Amino acid sequence: MKTTLRTDITVRDICEGFFYNELEGKGLFGLNGRLIIQPEYQRNYIYADGKKDVAVIDSVLKGFPLGVIYFNQVGDQYEVLDGQQRITTLGRFVTHKLAIKDKNGMEQYIDGLDEIERNRVLDTHLLIYICDGEEPEIKEWFKTINIVGIPLKQQEIRNAVYSGPFVTALKEEFSNSQNPYIQKWSAYVKGSVNRQDFLERALDWVSKGNIEGYMSKHRQDTDIAPVKTYFNAVIDWVSGVFNDVMSEMCGLEWNRLYEQYHNKPYNVTAVSQRVHELYADPYVTNHKGIFEYILGGEKDKSLLNIRVFDRATINRVYAKQTAKAKQKGVSNCPDCALQEGSNSTRIWKLAEMDADHVTAWSKGGATDEKNCRMLCRHHNRSKGNK
Ligand SMILES: [Zn+2]
Repeated sequence: MKTTLRTDITVRDICEGFFYNELEGKGLFGLNGRLIIQPEYQRNYIYADGKKDVAVIDSVLKGFPLGVIYFNQVGDQYEVLDGQQRITTLGRFVTHKLAIKDKNGMEQYIDGLDEIERNRVLDTHLLIYICDGEEPEIKEWFKTINIVGIPLKQQEIRNAVYSGPFVTALKEEFSNSQNPYIQKWSAYVKGSVNRQDFLERALDWVSKGNIEGYMSKHRQDTDIAPVKTYFNAVIDWVSGVFNDVMSEMCGLEWNRLYEQYHNKPYNVTAVSQRVHELYADPYVTNHKGIFEYILGGEKDKSLLNIRVFDRATINRVYAKQTAKAKQKGVSNCPDCALQEGSNSTRIWKLAEMDADHVTAWSKGGATDEKNCRMLCRHHNRSKGNK
């Protein structure tokens, strides 16, 4: 790969013929059409937050360096390899799409700056490396560079490495902020559309965790139906079983739960009622586990992280129970006391016993001293989840 350093290109030059697509949220061209700002392996423009974009313009106005920008030479055109966020920000400012606050806190577009300041921005020289090489080596190298300020996410790197018709079609569906389904997806999938989180989840689910293998295999495909179908099947299933949208549903492993339970019938009304009851139950401390608990037929209580007896309660109950047992000459484990053999009179140490709900939590038993008794390890375990 050959690289050439250019310092003669100014903000004015770069922004010549700049075009910002408001709908897709990306800057497209610069340098009078010679520069492609967002080639398909680049990520979406994510600086439009009123902070990072304003900081770029501030830096230029103060004469701070913007950092190195990398272009890739393609014929007689260039593609932005690194610097897309900064260039798009400059382009938006120069074309009146972005305002900054002046010393008096007033919003100012570029026209509102005095001539000296305006020219300071436009005449700023950029530090640009032009890279000339084969596509694979450019992409390999792109994988290793870190974009200033915000490191690339894993999926953004994968999109670059496996760029092609498949990624392009996937991004149109899963990385498109205009997609009307995003709001529905956001209830179950964490992250942001711009940072490729939905795309990553969709690929993760359909590929059973082997995203890279899947992207590599389908790289030249134009049909993304299998990815869409599976993703929608999972989302439709969960939104069908659970009428309620609770914030703890976001980010759960819905694909795993779908695989495990989607053939099981559920009474949607009863499910909804249980969700609300468990949310209202003060002993349930892990709300995230409620959904899997219900799907699994309310068997695995460990998912709910039921509040346990505190140390002081356990100490008091142990002392009381042991004193009584010694008086009667029986084991301090009530279940051992009922049995034949040497354990029937055995006094267990505190460390050899576990606290147990007399009335099970699932039958409405409270986690308080009145409902607490100590059992030996063996008997507590054999009691199981009753
Ligand atoms: Zn026992």
